[in-house]
Amino acid sequence: MAENTTNHNGGMTNNTKGRPNPGQDGVGKSNMVRSLLFTMLVVCLAAMLVANFVQNKNGDAEKTEVPISEVIQRANDPEGNIAKITVTGDTLDITLKGQEQATETSRKDANGTLYDQGLVNHCEGMEGEELTNCEGRYPVIEYKEDVNTWGIVLDVALTVIPIVIIVGFFAWMMRQANMANNSSLGFGKSKARLYGPDKKKVSFKDVAGNEAAKQDLTEVVDFLKNPKKYEKLGAKIPRGVLLAGEPGTGKTLMARAVAGEANVPFFSISGSEFAEMFVGVGASRVRDLFSKAKKNAPSIIFIDEIDAVAHKRDARGGAGREDEQTLNQILVEMDGFDNDSGVIVMAATNRVDMLDKALLRPGRFDRHVNVTLPERKDRLEILKVHFKGKPVEADVDLEAMAKKTAGSSGADLANIANEAAITAAREGHKAISNKDLTEAFERVAIGPERKSKVMNDKERKITAYHEAGHAVVGHVLPDSDPVHKVTIIPRGSTGGVTWFLPPEDRSYKSIYELKDILARAMGGRVAEKLIFGKDAVTTGAGSDLKNVAELAKSMVVEEGMGDGTRNLVFPSEATGYYTITTGKPYSEKTAEVIDAEIKKLSDEAAKRAEEVLKANKVVLDKLAEALLKQETLEEAELEPLLKDAKLPTVAKLH
Ligand code: ADP
Ligand code: ZN
Ligand code: MG
Repeated sequence: MAENTTNHNGGMTNNTKGRPNPGQDGVGKSNMVRSLLFTMLVVCLAAMLVANFVQNKNGDAEKTEVPISEVIQRANDPEGNIAKITVTGDTLDITLKGQEQATETSRKDANGTLYDQGLVNHCEGMEGEELTNCEGRYPVIEYKEDVNTWGIVLDVALTVIPIVIIVGFFAWMMRQANMANNSSLGFGKSKARLYGPDKKKVSFKDVAGNEAAKQDLTEVVDFLKNPKKYEKLGAKIPRGVLLAGEPGTGKTLMARAVAGEANVPFFSISGSEFAEMFVGVGASRVRDLFSKAKKNAPSIIFIDEIDAVAHKRDARGGAGREDEQTLNQILVEMDGFDNDSGVIVMAATNRVDMLDKALLRPGRFDRHVNVTLPERKDRLEILKVHFKGKPVEADVDLEAMAKKTAGSSGADLANIANEAAITAAREGHKAISNKDLTEAFERVAIGPERKSKVMNDKERKITAYHEAGHAVVGHVLPDSDPVHKVTIIPRGSTGGVTWFLPPEDRSYKSIYELKDILARAMGGRVAEKLIFGKDAVTTGAGSDLKNVAELAKSMVVEEGMGDGTRNLVFPSEATGYYTITTGKPYSEKTAEVIDAEIKKLSDEAAKRAEEVLKANKVVLDKLAEALLKQETLEEAELEPLLKDAKLPTVAKLH
């Protein structure tokens, strides 16, 4: 989508790339701790309530408090009026002769028995705490178990709370360790996540489109399900399957779907996790991961973003020693597989060109599955998957959305679907409307509308001419995509937006098309200059110029489209070659040549834009006026305004 919008004042906020889902267990663990703590709390509260209740029951009748010395004196008197003393812990409940219930109470010293304290010393002796042979002359002494419930609660609390705190603390530490550098605890233990058969299963049905990749992987599923079938025929079961494709195309999803389809455990780890480890930890994690997988065979090991550890060994000079160890360990483990180990290693990368060749040799990741950006019909399928279960209005046009989103990945589309639901919820709609969907699309592509951003009249006028400039140039040039929408409502970090949408998906772009893109990007600033004078240079065109510089550079360096360097490409940072002296992938002299070619392209673009706008000043004015009045113009509204615009011969390329 990036190339298809031309906006001024700040770049595309590219928040559309899908991030792989974080591990699922981590979340579960903290939930467990939380619910444990909560249960404890509930138990404690309940116990306290019960204790309170019991106490109230016991203490229903008011009793007179009597000093212990008086109790002892009266009890030792054979003629005294005490019938029974009930001892509960340190509490003495005294029942008088002729009474049913205790009416007096007293407390004994915490230490020592009643006997020690001289109570009923006429008795013969003691058995345990029981006085014996009192022969009915003295009060009956009854010992009750100390049901001081408050004490019990306190006891329980004192034992449980520290345990909870300690357990909680450790859980928290582990989580921190997992998140930060996953190393301070459990050195060398692979924290590979296990999506075993019991976890929420993903199947091929959840992966829309990409039929070719699914076809290839069906074979892998079959290997896992019926290894015997292949062994009998002497076929070598593949060990490594490499999923290659741009970010967000569903590689991770696809790998999980293979595990789901084959119904085998799935051990997943991300290459970037290795990169965060201490020296030596990466290799031992690999060892641990493979041994776990072998124990659970048949199973799948999935190494996501493997380029993080397995980049070309010369590409990072000495910096990658640790990664190299990790990579070597992966190779060693894969070489050590028996034919019948039943473990298949899958890996995903968006940079196959960056991978160490050793990884791609036979017996390692020798099967390649390309996961591609979805075509229009696949985009429709993906949208359908992500709109399933979401209530939508009848006017929601997924076909149109699929058409508009050429170049978007599955993750982008999932994001649009989610944003649409969020927008609908925010607006208080019962179901998602087509307007919510459009808003979501624009939000994902550029950022939220900011109606609150105040522009003064002068700024609005400049913005209107700027966007109109993009639109007129883009409309007039024959190899540019049609204008889809123009708006001067600020969105994300932009002051206004002009959208161009390709009528269909294309795999290649011609040099003419790219040059038209450069020119229409220049159209904004050139229009400002034409209307407000050549010194009225605003900051509004910064991102346009950056886009021009980037596109022109890639045309020269990567595509061999420089005028004087036609068909020559230059090694770039992406390929990982640097010359030591310049820090660039080429010499200073070559760098000058490249810079000159880039300048030539952008000068030409500015020149063409200027010719077009000079020749169509009337159309430019009309469009800018309409924008000032309406703020947003859709395709249908643009057409009558633009239809008189003409292509001047000077701006023609072919
Ligand atoms: P990758 O690993 O290639 O970067 P992911 O597998 O992480 O991409 O995809 C991110 C998200 O995008 C997925 O969780 C899914 O919601 C969505 N997605 C991507 N491709 C597809 C697809 N073909 N069908 C359905 N959803 C998809
Ligand atoms: Zn612009
Ligand atoms: Mg991924």
